[in-house]
Amino acid sequence: MQYRTRFAPSPTGYMHLGGLRTALYAYLFAKKNNGVFILRIEDTDRERQVEGTAEIIYETLAEVGLTYDEGPDVGGPYGPYVQSERMEIYREHAEMLVKRGHAYYCFCGKEELDEQRLIHHASRVSHKYNKHCANLSSEEITRKLSEGTPCVIRQNVPEEGKVFFNDCVYGRIEVEKNTLEDQIILKSDGFPTYNFANVVDDRLMGVTHVIRGNEFLSSTPKHVLLYEGFGWEPPVYIHVPTIMRTADKKLSKRDGDAYFGDFIAKGYLKEAIVNYIALLGWSPGGEKEKFSLAELVEAFDIEGISKSPAIFDIKKLDWLNGEYLRAMDGEEFHDKALPYIKEGVKRDIDTRMVAKLMKDRVERLTEIPEQLDFIDALPDYSLELYTHKKMKTNAESAGQMLAEIFPVLERLDDWRQEAIHETLMALVERLGCKNGQILWPLRVALSGKAQTPGGGIEIAVILGKGETLARISHALGKLK
Ligand code: GLU
Repeated sequence: MQYRTRFAPSPTGYMHLGGLRTALYAYLFAKKNNGVFILRIEDTDRERQVEGTAEIIYETLAEVGLTYDEGPDVGGPYGPYVQSERMEIYREHAEMLVKRGHAYYCFCGKEELDEQRLIHHASRVSHKYNKHCANLSSEEITRKLSEGTPCVIRQNVPEEGKVFFNDCVYGRIEVEKNTLEDQIILKSDGFPTYNFANVVDDRLMGVTHVIRGNEFLSSTPKHVLLYEGFGWEPPVYIHVPTIMRTADKKLSKRDGDAYFGDFIAKGYLKEAIVNYIALLGWSPGGEKEKFSLAELVEAFDIEGISKSPAIFDIKKLDWLNGEYLRAMDGEEFHDKALPYIKEGVKRDIDTRMVAKLMKDRVERLTEIPEQLDFIDALPDYSLELYTHKKMKTNAESAGQMLAEIFPVLERLDDWRQEAIHETLMALVERLGCKNGQILWPLRVALSGKAQTPGGGIEIAVILGKGETLARISHALGKLK
């Protein structure tokens, strides 16, 4: 049997991190088993839909490499893969279920339903539809249909017995059928509800394994009953735990941590995000934590999915992202870092040199601009910065050293790093001082900061001779 999984998002907004993880698991499971991964757009809830968001789904999946074998924009043998294009199929299947006695037409209008709700409320019984229309005579039904009375189709849930299924993660789930309502499966406007369309499509698209968030665990008994009603075998269910911000708080739009795009905007790499979310709720076992998509396919296993909520750990994502940045070669890092370098520095500088200095210093690309802020304009700094115990310097000795450095650099024409280095080392020798007594004051004078990418010599190269000398003389003025 060929395994077939699907990702079935509703186009209601940006790509949620939890949704992306569901897609990832469905992809990994299919690919691991030489199966087929399907994308299906569930757009029958017209009110919740947001224009243009199906495109975001296609783009995001393509961006992170979750290539689907069948889907709206790539086609496939079981299309269309957009639910709003399958309306006829749902009607036919709803009617099929009516014929089999597992669904019925319901003509109750808003007034009747409100009245039932009030009665239930008054007598303190939990409300569910009272099956009034399940007992209409066939003559009455035919008459109402031919008169064009507005109606819906409801699932006919048996009043006795239990329904159960075995979830691969949560185990056996069993509920009393009488706790389930005769839910609407086809609305009066002809649109199916989520529960119904989802079941019909999973079946018609040959889905063998349903992988989705555990918020659907409670709907699954209704789905199983629909399968039974049709006389179909249900798929294998794999519900995955919710991603939480903390033990009792979900990821949220307000905290800016809900969407894939939020993380891209914060300077995380897509590979690191995918790697990280794979580990949220699933453990490969063993120590290895950095996985490419191909390695994830290799390692993925349903057994590794845990049922406890997955707590999002931003520190771990930062670390993993840093690992990806450090693993890049110089050229690739330069290309990725360039927009951020340009954001931080307007002056014309050697961006390759800056990129090289930044590579091992950041976990996120967005940290780059602020680390380079001293290049365009020297910040106002305190003279205390010149004091550094280990380097054996303070403001007084720094003043003396900078006075020695200035003329030496002024005479130097070759402004390459090696030449500056040699010149300053010769000065160290002549003065009989420590390297730090020259280099620390230089760094502070050129950057106004205690921490910089690179030391005084690298900064001098980046700034160029004119600006270097100007900053040293500015320092000498301050130190006087
Ligand atoms: N359309 C549902 C959603 O937006 C799909 C649930 C499922 O995968 O069955 O999450």
